[in-house]
Amino acid sequence: MLAHEKLREVVASAEKEADFLVKLLCDEQCAADESWSRVQSCLLILRYSLAAKLIYFAQTIDPLIVAPYASRFDDIMLRTYLKIVDIDELRDDQKLQLSLPLRHGGCGLRTHAISELRRLFVSSAMLVAPAVHAATGFSVAPAPTGAQDDDASFSHFEYSLKSSIKNLSADGITSPDFNFTGPLSAKKWASGASEKLYKNTKNALEEELENLPRLECKYANARVLSCGGTGAQWLAQAPTCHLTQIPDDDMRSVIRFRLGKETFCADICPHINADGVPCGKQCDREGRHLLSCPSGGGFFVGHDSVCATYCALAAGADGIPGAQAAWKPRVDAWPRSTRGAEADAGFFRLPGSRDTYVDAVCSYANPVTYRGCDSTAGTVAEWKARKKNAEHPVFDAQNHRRLHPFDFRALSFERHGYWAKETVGFTKKLAFARAAALGLDPAAEICRWYGIISCSLQRANAKILRGEPVPARHSAPPPRLFSLGRDLPLVSA
Ligand SMILES: [Zn+2]
Repeated sequence: MLAHEKLREVVASAEKEADFLVKLLCDEQCAADESWSRVQSCLLILRYSLAAKLIYFAQTIDPLIVAPYASRFDDIMLRTYLKIVDIDELRDDQKLQLSLPLRHGGCGLRTHAISELRRLFVSSAMLVAPAVHAATGFSVAPAPTGAQDDDASFSHFEYSLKSSIKNLSADGITSPDFNFTGPLSAKKWASGASEKLYKNTKNALEEELENLPRLECKYANARVLSCGGTGAQWLAQAPTCHLTQIPDDDMRSVIRFRLGKETFCADICPHINADGVPCGKQCDREGRHLLSCPSGGGFFVGHDSVCATYCALAAGADGIPGAQAAWKPRVDAWPRSTRGAEADAGFFRLPGSRDTYVDAVCSYANPVTYRGCDSTAGTVAEWKARKKNAEHPVFDAQNHRRLHPFDFRALSFERHGYWAKETVGFTKKLAFARAAALGLDPAAEICRWYGIISCSLQRANAKILRGEPVPARHSAPPPRLFSLGRDLPLVSA
Protein backbone atom coordinates (compact mmCIF):
# COMPACT_ATOMS: atom_id res chain seq x y z
CA MET A 1 0.00 0.00 0.00
CA LEU A 2 1.10 3.50 -0.82
CA ALA A 3 0.61 4.81 2.75
CA HIS A 4 2.84 2.11 4.26
CA GLU A 5 5.51 2.70 1.67
CA LYS A 6 5.50 6.45 2.27
CA LEU A 7 5.62 6.04 6.07
CA ARG A 8 8.47 3.53 5.87
CA GLU A 9 10.33 6.06 3.76
CA VAL A 10 9.73 8.86 6.28
CA VAL A 11 10.99 6.77 9.19
CA ALA A 12 14.05 5.60 7.26
CA SER A 13 15.01 9.10 6.18
CA ALA A 14 14.44 10.45 9.70
CA GLU A 15 16.83 7.80 10.98
CA LYS A 16 19.45 8.79 8.45
CA GLU A 17 19.15 12.51 9.17
CA ALA A 18 19.19 11.90 12.93
CA ASP A 19 22.42 9.92 12.54
CA PHE A 20 23.85 12.79 10.55
CA LEU A 21 23.04 15.25 13.36
CA VAL A 22 24.81 13.05 15.89
CA LYS A 23 27.75 12.69 13.51
CA LEU A 24 28.02 16.47 13.30
CA LEU A 25 28.67 16.49 17.02
CA CYS A 26 31.48 13.95 16.81
CA ASP A 27 33.11 15.47 13.75
CA GLU A 28 36.56 16.77 14.59
CA GLN A 29 36.58 19.24 11.73
CA CYS A 30 33.52 20.90 13.19
CA ALA A 31 34.92 20.68 16.71
CA ALA A 32 37.85 22.84 15.62
CA ASP A 33 35.53 25.80 15.60
CA GLU A 34 33.94 25.95 19.01
CA SER A 35 32.06 29.12 18.40
CA TRP A 36 29.04 27.65 16.74
CA SER A 37 27.20 26.00 19.68
CA ARG A 38 26.67 22.63 18.08
CA VAL A 39 24.46 21.13 20.78
CA GLN A 40 22.13 24.11 20.70
CA SER A 41 21.92 24.08 16.87
CA CYS A 42 21.42 20.33 16.56
CA LEU A 43 18.61 20.34 19.11
CA LEU A 44 16.84 23.08 17.19
CA ILE A 45 17.17 21.24 13.87
CA LEU A 46 15.91 18.08 15.51
CA ARG A 47 12.86 19.78 17.02
CA TYR A 48 11.86 22.20 14.30
CA SER A 49 12.81 20.37 11.16
CA LEU A 50 13.14 16.66 11.71
CA ALA A 51 10.50 16.05 14.37
CA ALA A 52 7.93 17.90 12.26
CA LYS A 53 8.38 15.64 9.24
CA LEU A 54 5.96 12.93 10.21
CA ILE A 55 3.11 15.36 10.74
CA TYR A 56 3.03 16.21 7.07
CA PHE A 57 2.08 12.66 6.13
CA ALA A 58 0.18 11.77 9.27
CA GLN A 59 -2.51 14.34 8.54
CA THR A 60 -4.11 12.41 5.72
CA ILE A 61 -3.60 8.78 6.69
CA ASP A 62 -5.76 6.71 9.06
CA PRO A 63 -4.17 7.14 12.54
CA LEU A 64 -4.27 3.40 13.17
CA ILE A 65 -2.02 2.82 10.15
CA VAL A 66 0.38 5.61 11.18
CA ALA A 67 0.62 4.59 14.86
CA PRO A 68 3.33 1.89 14.66
CA TYR A 69 5.51 4.05 12.39
CA ALA A 70 4.94 7.05 14.67
CA SER A 71 6.18 5.17 17.70
CA ARG A 72 9.36 4.14 15.83
CA PHE A 73 9.78 7.73 14.66
CA ASP A 74 9.40 9.03 18.24
CA ASP A 75 11.97 6.49 19.42
CA ILE A 76 14.48 7.78 16.91
CA MET A 77 13.82 11.39 17.95
CA LEU A 78 14.18 10.64 21.66
CA ARG A 79 17.32 8.56 21.15
CA THR A 80 18.89 11.31 19.06
CA TYR A 81 17.95 14.04 21.54
CA LEU A 82 19.57 12.12 24.38
CA LYS A 83 22.69 11.44 22.29
CA ILE A 84 23.04 15.13 21.48
CA VAL A 85 22.79 16.19 25.12
CA ASP A 86 24.81 13.16 26.25
CA ILE A 87 22.31 11.60 28.63
CA ASP A 88 22.25 7.78 28.92
CA GLU A 89 18.71 7.24 30.03
CA LEU A 90 15.67 8.95 31.47
CA ARG A 91 12.98 7.87 33.89
CA ASP A 92 9.43 7.77 32.52
CA ASP A 93 8.54 11.05 34.23
CA GLN A 94 11.57 12.75 32.66
CA LYS A 95 10.53 11.46 29.23
CA LEU A 96 7.08 12.97 29.76
CA GLN A 97 8.63 16.28 30.80
CA LEU A 98 10.80 16.27 27.68
CA SER A 99 7.70 15.99 25.48
CA LEU A 100 5.83 18.91 27.08
CA PRO A 101 5.85 22.31 25.35
CA LEU A 102 8.44 24.79 26.65
CA ARG A 103 5.89 27.01 28.37
CA HIS A 104 4.61 24.02 30.36
CA GLY A 105 8.12 23.24 31.63
CA GLY A 106 9.12 20.71 28.98
CA CYS A 107 11.73 20.62 26.23
CA GLY A 108 9.27 20.73 23.35
CA LEU A 109 10.15 17.36 21.81
CA ARG A 110 6.60 16.47 20.78
CA THR A 111 5.57 12.84 20.54
CA HIS A 112 3.05 11.27 18.20
CA ALA A 113 0.86 9.29 20.56
CA ILE A 114 -2.26 7.87 18.92
CA SER A 115 -4.40 10.70 20.32
CA GLU A 116 -2.10 13.27 18.72
CA LEU A 117 -2.34 11.44 15.38
CA ARG A 118 -6.15 11.48 15.68
CA ARG A 119 -6.11 15.20 16.43
CA LEU A 120 -4.03 15.87 13.30
CA PHE A 121 -6.24 13.64 11.15
CA VAL A 122 -9.52 15.24 12.28
CA SER A 123 -8.23 18.81 12.04
CA SER A 124 -6.89 18.32 8.51
CA ALA A 125 -10.26 16.84 7.46
CA MET A 126 -11.94 19.99 8.84
CA LEU A 127 -9.43 22.13 7.01
CA VAL A 128 -9.95 20.63 3.56
CA ALA A 129 -13.71 19.99 3.82
CA PRO A 130 -14.94 23.20 2.10
CA ALA A 131 -12.43 22.87 -0.78
CA VAL A 132 -13.30 19.20 -1.33
CA HIS A 133 -16.99 20.03 -1.32
CA ALA A 134 -16.53 22.83 -3.83
CA ALA A 135 -14.42 20.71 -6.16
CA THR A 136 -16.21 17.35 -5.99
CA GLY A 137 -19.57 17.89 -4.29
CA PHE A 138 -18.50 15.32 -1.72
CA SER A 139 -19.16 16.33 1.90
CA VAL A 140 -16.30 15.53 4.23
CA ALA A 141 -17.85 14.34 7.49
CA PRO A 142 -17.58 11.39 9.88
CA ALA A 143 -19.88 8.40 9.28
CA PRO A 144 -23.08 8.83 11.34
CA THR A 145 -23.15 7.36 14.84
CA GLY A 146 -25.62 4.61 13.93
CA ALA A 147 -23.72 3.35 10.86
CA GLN A 148 -22.35 -0.20 11.06
CA ASP A 149 -18.80 -0.79 9.89
CA ASP A 150 -19.95 -3.18 7.15
CA ASP A 151 -22.41 -0.65 5.70
CA ALA A 152 -20.76 0.04 2.35
CA SER A 153 -22.56 3.34 1.83
CA PHE A 154 -19.80 5.02 3.83
CA SER A 155 -16.13 5.06 2.95
CA HIS A 156 -13.18 3.85 5.00
CA PHE A 157 -12.20 7.49 5.46
CA GLU A 158 -15.60 8.37 6.98
CA TYR A 159 -15.35 5.47 9.42
CA SER A 160 -11.82 6.46 10.41
CA LEU A 161 -13.02 9.98 11.07
CA LYS A 162 -15.90 8.68 13.16
CA SER A 163 -13.71 6.43 15.30
CA SER A 164 -11.03 9.13 15.72
CA ILE A 165 -13.61 11.60 17.03
CA LYS A 166 -15.13 8.97 19.31
CA ASN A 167 -11.73 8.06 20.79
CA LEU A 168 -10.76 11.70 21.26
CA SER A 169 -13.96 12.39 23.15
CA ALA A 170 -12.95 9.59 25.52
CA ASP A 171 -9.80 11.67 26.14
CA GLY A 172 -12.03 14.59 27.10
CA ILE A 173 -11.92 16.44 23.77
CA THR A 174 -15.11 18.03 22.42
CA SER A 175 -16.26 16.60 19.09
CA PRO A 176 -15.91 19.07 16.22
CA ASP A 177 -18.97 20.29 14.32
CA PHE A 178 -18.60 19.30 10.66
CA ASN A 179 -21.33 21.76 9.70
CA PHE A 180 -18.76 24.49 10.31
CA THR A 181 -15.46 23.57 8.67
CA GLY A 182 -12.59 25.47 7.05
CA PRO A 183 -9.23 26.86 8.18
CA LEU A 184 -10.52 28.96 11.09
CA SER A 185 -12.69 26.33 12.75
CA ALA A 186 -10.02 23.68 12.11
CA LYS A 187 -7.37 25.78 13.82
CA LYS A 188 -9.60 26.67 16.74
CA TRP A 189 -10.62 23.07 17.35
CA ALA A 190 -7.06 21.75 16.90
CA SER A 191 -5.50 24.16 19.38
CA GLY A 192 -8.23 23.47 21.96
CA ALA A 193 -7.65 19.74 21.54
CA SER A 194 -3.91 20.26 21.77
CA GLU A 195 -4.19 22.11 25.10
CA LYS A 196 -6.36 19.29 26.44
CA LEU A 197 -3.79 16.68 25.36
CA TYR A 198 -0.97 18.64 27.06
CA LYS A 199 -3.06 18.74 30.21
CA ASN A 200 -3.46 14.97 30.00
CA THR A 201 0.33 14.59 29.59
CA LYS A 202 0.86 16.89 32.56
CA ASN A 203 -1.52 14.80 34.64
CA ALA A 204 0.30 11.64 33.57
CA LEU A 205 3.56 13.30 34.62
CA GLU A 206 2.12 14.20 38.03
CA GLU A 207 0.95 10.62 38.50
CA GLU A 208 4.44 9.33 37.60
CA LEU A 209 5.97 11.71 40.13
CA GLU A 210 3.63 10.44 42.86
CA ASN A 211 5.56 7.15 42.70
CA LEU A 212 8.81 8.80 43.75
CA PRO A 213 9.79 9.06 47.42
CA ARG A 214 7.92 11.97 49.05
CA LEU A 215 10.75 14.51 49.11
CA GLU A 216 11.92 13.59 45.59
CA CYS A 217 8.35 14.07 44.39
CA LYS A 218 8.23 17.56 45.94
CA TYR A 219 11.57 18.51 44.37
CA ALA A 220 10.45 17.25 40.96
CA ASN A 221 7.09 19.05 41.07
CA ALA A 222 8.79 22.30 42.06
CA ARG A 223 11.33 21.82 39.28
CA VAL A 224 8.79 21.26 36.49
CA LEU A 225 6.71 24.25 37.63
CA SER A 226 9.79 26.44 37.87
CA CYS A 227 10.84 25.44 34.31
CA GLY A 228 7.72 26.91 32.68
CA GLY A 229 6.65 30.33 31.45
CA THR A 230 8.62 33.07 29.73
CA GLY A 231 11.93 31.93 31.16
CA ALA A 232 11.88 28.77 29.01
CA GLN A 233 12.59 30.89 25.93
CA TRP A 234 16.31 29.95 25.90
CA LEU A 235 15.34 26.54 24.51
CA ALA A 236 13.88 28.19 21.42
CA GLN A 237 16.86 30.45 20.70
CA ALA A 238 18.95 30.04 17.59
CA PRO A 239 22.62 30.73 18.40
CA THR A 240 22.81 33.68 16.03
CA CYS A 241 25.04 35.94 18.14
CA HIS A 242 27.05 35.87 21.36
CA LEU A 243 23.99 36.93 23.34
CA THR A 244 21.93 33.88 22.41
CA GLN A 245 24.74 31.33 22.10
CA ILE A 246 25.01 28.67 24.75
CA PRO A 247 28.32 26.74 24.62
CA ASP A 248 28.03 22.96 24.24
CA ASP A 249 29.01 22.04 27.79
CA ASP A 250 26.73 24.69 29.22
CA MET A 251 23.81 23.52 27.09
CA ARG A 252 24.26 19.93 28.26
CA SER A 253 24.49 20.99 31.90
CA VAL A 254 21.38 23.15 31.84
CA ILE A 255 19.28 20.54 30.06
CA ARG A 256 20.33 17.97 32.66
CA PHE A 257 19.39 20.53 35.30
CA ARG A 258 15.98 21.07 33.68
CA LEU A 259 15.27 17.33 33.66
CA GLY A 260 16.48 16.78 37.22
CA LYS A 261 19.57 14.75 36.24
CA GLU A 262 22.81 14.94 38.18
CA THR A 263 25.06 17.81 37.15
CA PHE A 264 27.94 17.47 39.60
CA CYS A 265 29.20 14.47 41.48
CA ALA A 266 31.42 15.51 44.38
CA ASP A 267 29.77 15.05 47.77
CA ILE A 268 31.37 18.04 49.43
CA CYS A 269 30.92 21.61 48.15
CA PRO A 270 34.15 22.80 46.46
CA HIS A 271 33.49 26.49 46.99
CA ILE A 272 35.93 28.71 48.82
CA ASN A 273 34.79 32.11 49.97
CA ALA A 274 36.53 35.47 49.49
CA ASP A 275 38.44 35.01 52.76
CA GLY A 276 39.80 31.63 51.63
CA VAL A 277 37.50 29.58 53.88
CA PRO A 278 36.12 26.43 52.21
CA CYS A 279 32.36 25.91 52.41
CA GLY A 280 32.77 22.20 53.17
CA LYS A 281 29.02 21.53 53.32
CA GLN A 282 27.36 18.38 52.06
CA CYS A 283 26.54 18.92 48.39
CA ASP A 284 23.65 17.30 46.48
CA ARG A 285 24.11 16.30 42.84
CA GLU A 286 21.21 18.25 41.36
CA GLY A 287 22.55 21.75 42.00
CA ARG A 288 20.37 22.72 44.96
CA HIS A 289 23.32 23.52 47.22
CA LEU A 290 25.69 24.89 44.57
CA LEU A 291 23.14 27.36 43.21
CA SER A 292 22.42 28.77 46.64
CA CYS A 293 25.83 28.44 48.33
CA PRO A 294 26.93 31.91 49.46
CA SER A 295 30.66 31.09 49.78
CA GLY A 296 31.18 30.33 46.11
CA GLY A 297 29.48 33.44 44.95
CA GLY A 298 27.16 31.22 42.89
CA PHE A 299 24.50 33.18 44.61
CA PHE A 300 25.64 36.33 42.80
CA VAL A 301 26.80 35.03 39.45
CA GLY A 302 23.35 34.69 37.88
CA HIS A 303 22.33 37.94 39.51
CA ASP A 304 25.21 39.97 38.09
CA SER A 305 24.95 38.52 34.60
CA VAL A 306 21.22 39.23 34.23
CA CYS A 307 21.75 42.81 35.47
CA ALA A 308 24.54 43.29 32.96
CA THR A 309 22.34 41.85 30.21
CA TYR A 310 19.50 44.28 30.98
CA CYS A 311 21.96 47.19 30.95
CA ALA A 312 23.41 46.09 27.61
CA LEU A 313 19.99 45.53 26.03
CA ALA A 314 18.52 48.81 27.24
CA ALA A 315 21.47 51.17 27.07
CA GLY A 316 24.20 49.39 25.12
CA ALA A 317 25.41 50.50 21.70
CA ASP A 318 22.35 48.86 20.13
CA GLY A 319 19.92 49.67 22.94
CA ILE A 320 16.87 51.92 23.28
CA PRO A 321 17.79 55.22 21.58
CA GLY A 322 18.56 57.83 24.23
CA ALA A 323 18.26 55.51 27.23
CA GLN A 324 21.04 55.41 29.81
CA ALA A 325 21.88 52.88 32.48
CA ALA A 326 23.97 53.08 35.62
CA TRP A 327 25.40 50.14 37.49
CA LYS A 328 25.08 50.29 41.29
CA PRO A 329 23.68 53.81 41.41
CA ARG A 330 23.47 55.57 44.73
CA VAL A 331 19.84 56.19 45.58
CA ASP A 332 19.47 58.46 48.58
CA ALA A 333 15.81 57.53 48.91
CA TRP A 334 16.69 54.03 50.07
CA PRO A 335 19.63 54.40 52.48
CA ARG A 336 20.85 51.01 53.56
CA SER A 337 22.78 49.93 56.57
CA THR A 338 23.28 46.40 55.29
CA ARG A 339 25.21 45.13 52.32
CA GLY A 340 23.55 44.24 49.09
CA ALA A 341 20.31 46.13 49.58
CA GLU A 342 20.98 49.14 47.37
CA ALA A 343 19.55 49.10 43.84
CA ASP A 344 21.56 47.07 41.31
CA ALA A 345 21.02 49.24 38.27
CA GLY A 346 19.19 52.37 37.24
CA PHE A 347 17.61 53.13 33.86
CA PHE A 348 17.23 56.76 32.85
CA ARG A 349 15.63 58.64 29.93
CA LEU A 350 13.44 55.73 28.97
CA PRO A 351 11.03 56.98 26.32
CA GLY A 352 7.59 57.38 27.87
CA SER A 353 8.55 56.10 31.34
CA ARG A 354 9.90 57.37 34.63
CA ASP A 355 13.48 56.67 35.61
CA THR A 356 13.50 53.17 37.04
CA TYR A 357 15.80 51.46 39.50
CA VAL A 358 15.97 47.69 39.54
CA ASP A 359 17.24 45.06 41.93
CA ALA A 360 17.77 41.49 40.76
CA VAL A 361 17.39 38.19 42.54
CA CYS A 362 17.74 34.60 41.24
CA SER A 363 16.32 31.97 43.54
CA TYR A 364 16.20 28.21 43.59
CA ALA A 365 12.62 26.97 44.00
CA ASN A 366 13.34 24.54 46.81
CA PRO A 367 10.17 23.18 48.45
CA VAL A 368 12.06 22.59 51.70
CA THR A 369 12.91 26.28 52.11
CA TYR A 370 9.94 27.82 50.28
CA ARG A 371 6.56 26.34 51.09
CA GLY A 372 4.15 25.96 48.21
CA CYS A 373 6.60 26.14 45.30
CA ASP A 374 5.84 22.48 44.52
CA SER A 375 2.17 23.28 43.91
CA THR A 376 2.10 26.79 42.39
CA ALA A 377 4.38 28.01 39.62
CA GLY A 378 6.40 31.12 40.43
CA THR A 379 5.81 31.04 44.21
CA VAL A 380 9.42 31.92 44.97
CA ALA A 381 9.92 34.46 42.18
CA GLU A 382 6.75 36.37 43.20
CA TRP A 383 7.59 36.26 46.90
CA LYS A 384 11.09 37.61 46.30
CA ALA A 385 9.69 40.32 44.02
CA ARG A 386 7.31 41.45 46.78
CA LYS A 387 10.19 41.46 49.25
CA LYS A 388 12.34 43.60 46.94
CA ASN A 389 9.48 46.08 46.53
CA ALA A 390 9.05 46.30 50.28
CA GLU A 391 12.75 47.13 50.61
CA HIS A 392 12.54 49.82 47.94
CA PRO A 393 9.27 51.65 48.60
CA VAL A 394 8.10 54.16 46.01
CA PHE A 395 4.67 54.79 47.53
CA ASP A 396 3.76 55.65 51.12
CA ALA A 397 2.44 52.54 52.88
CA GLN A 398 -0.36 54.44 54.65
CA ASN A 399 -1.74 56.98 52.22
CA HIS A 400 -0.43 55.38 48.99
CA ARG A 401 0.94 58.70 47.79
CA ARG A 402 3.97 58.69 45.57
CA LEU A 403 7.14 59.40 47.57
CA HIS A 404 9.61 59.61 44.69
CA PRO A 405 9.62 60.80 41.08
CA PHE A 406 11.20 57.49 39.98
CA ASP A 407 10.01 53.88 39.91
CA PHE A 408 11.33 50.60 41.19
CA ARG A 409 11.06 47.18 39.57
CA ALA A 410 12.24 43.82 40.87
CA LEU A 411 14.04 41.52 38.42
CA SER A 412 13.10 38.25 40.07
CA PHE A 413 13.95 34.90 38.48
CA GLU A 414 13.91 31.30 39.51
CA ARG A 415 17.00 29.32 38.55
CA HIS A 416 15.07 26.87 36.40
CA GLY A 417 13.72 29.81 34.47
CA TYR A 418 10.45 31.15 35.89
CA TRP A 419 10.11 34.96 35.93
CA ALA A 420 8.00 37.04 38.31
CA LYS A 421 5.06 38.82 36.61
CA GLU A 422 6.54 42.23 37.40
CA THR A 423 9.81 41.21 35.72
CA VAL A 424 8.00 40.01 32.59
CA GLY A 425 6.04 43.29 32.51
CA PHE A 426 9.11 45.49 32.88
CA THR A 427 11.03 43.56 30.21
CA LYS A 428 8.08 43.89 27.84
CA LYS A 429 7.96 47.62 28.47
CA LEU A 430 11.65 48.11 27.69
CA ALA A 431 11.50 45.91 24.59
CA PHE A 432 8.39 47.73 23.40
CA ALA A 433 10.12 51.09 23.86
CA ARG A 434 13.00 49.94 21.65
CA ALA A 435 10.65 48.50 19.01
CA ALA A 436 8.62 51.72 18.95
CA ALA A 437 11.71 53.93 18.67
CA LEU A 438 13.25 51.89 15.87
CA GLY A 439 10.10 50.84 14.04
CA LEU A 440 10.47 47.13 14.79
CA ASP A 441 7.78 44.51 15.30
CA PRO A 442 7.06 44.70 19.06
CA ALA A 443 6.20 41.00 19.44
CA ALA A 444 9.46 39.88 17.83
CA GLU A 445 11.46 42.38 19.86
CA ILE A 446 9.87 41.24 23.13
CA CYS A 447 10.70 37.63 22.20
CA ARG A 448 14.30 38.63 21.50
CA TRP A 449 14.66 40.16 24.97
CA TYR A 450 13.11 37.12 26.66
CA GLY A 451 15.50 34.87 24.75
CA ILE A 452 18.66 36.85 25.46
CA ILE A 453 17.92 37.33 29.15
CA SER A 454 16.98 33.68 29.71
CA CYS A 455 20.14 32.54 27.88
CA SER A 456 22.32 34.71 30.13
CA LEU A 457 20.75 33.20 33.24
CA GLN A 458 21.22 29.63 31.99
CA ARG A 459 24.86 30.24 30.99
CA ALA A 460 25.52 31.46 34.52
CA ASN A 461 23.69 28.44 35.97
CA ALA A 462 25.80 26.04 33.92
CA LYS A 463 29.09 27.27 35.35
CA ILE A 464 27.84 26.97 38.91
CA LEU A 465 26.21 23.59 38.29
CA ARG A 466 29.50 22.06 37.23
CA GLY A 467 31.10 23.17 40.49
CA GLU A 468 33.45 25.50 38.63
CA PRO A 469 35.07 28.05 40.87
CA VAL A 470 32.99 31.17 40.67
CA PRO A 471 34.26 34.55 41.81
CA ALA A 472 33.06 35.29 45.28
CA ARG A 473 32.23 38.89 46.02
CA HIS A 474 35.63 40.43 46.37
CA SER A 475 34.38 43.99 46.23
CA ALA A 476 34.67 45.91 49.48
CA PRO A 477 31.54 47.32 51.09
CA PRO A 478 30.69 50.76 49.67
CA PRO A 479 32.75 53.54 51.33
CA ARG A 480 29.67 55.43 52.47
CA LEU A 481 29.11 52.68 55.02
CA PHE A 482 32.47 53.43 56.59
CA SER A 483 31.90 57.13 56.55
CA LEU A 484 28.76 56.73 58.65
CA GLY A 485 30.91 55.25 61.37
CA ARG A 486 28.00 53.77 63.28
CA ASP A 487 27.14 50.93 60.94
CA LEU A 488 26.67 48.05 63.35
CA PRO A 489 27.47 45.06 61.14
CA LEU A 490 30.77 46.63 60.10
CA VAL A 491 31.74 47.87 63.54
CA SER A 492 31.42 44.43 64.99
CA ALA A 493 33.22 42.80 62.07
ZN1 LIG B 1 28.81 25.39 49.51
